[in-house]
Amino acid sequence: MAQRAEELSLFVIDEGDNETLLSHRISSDDIYRKQNDETYHSVNKETTVDGIKVRAYCPVGKSDQGRLALDVAVKALDIYKKYGAMENYGLITYRESELLYDNLYSTAVNKQRVAIVVTHEVAHQWFGNLVTMEWWTHLWLNEGFATWVSYLVTDTLFLEWEIWTKFLEDTAGGLHLDALETSHPIEVEIHHARSIDEVADDI
Ligand SMILES: [Zn+2]
Repeated sequence: MAQRAEELSLFVIDEGDNETLLSHRISSDDIYRKQNDETYHSVNKETTVDGIKVRAYCPVGKSDQGRLALDVAVKALDIYKKYGAMENYGLITYRESELLYDNLYSTAVNKQRVAIVVTHEVAHQWFGNLVTMEWWTHLWLNEGFATWVSYLVTDTLFLEWEIWTKFLEDTAGGLHLDALETSHPIEVEIHHARSIDEVADDI
């Protein structure tokens, strides 16, 4: 089997830029310059216990704000590995508000949000290609499990947050909706990819 670089990058990105970013990732540079000259760099680098390189690319001047996400990702990889196989190679892109955390100016809710989002996306990585759903109809399986397990890992990393109380708060909305006569099954047949937004509600 071909040797594969075991690297995972977290990247702040605008939507629609993924393709150029992927080809950049393969070259493994520390700096990424967009066409409009906006520059991102991965000052933040860590290695997991197993030697998996993890990097967080942030806009220049905001590298410090990527530390939390990087730290969470590295620890999450080590935890997920205990449960089984990992797919560590890859690139995960995030909105700036979901990846960056400022020690001075961000709120406690921001910190929890970054932890939940990073552990959620790394969970998708952990499932690997084997359990990627065949079609959007089964999206709930991926998302349901990634959501649950993100709280499990966040709880392990930040016990003092008692994050399961927030899990209840975050999932109760779905139960409210589900109590209505207009509720729908968790699994909804999707006939066209453009319809997926219609089922992405709290249920
Ligand atoms: Zn997800």
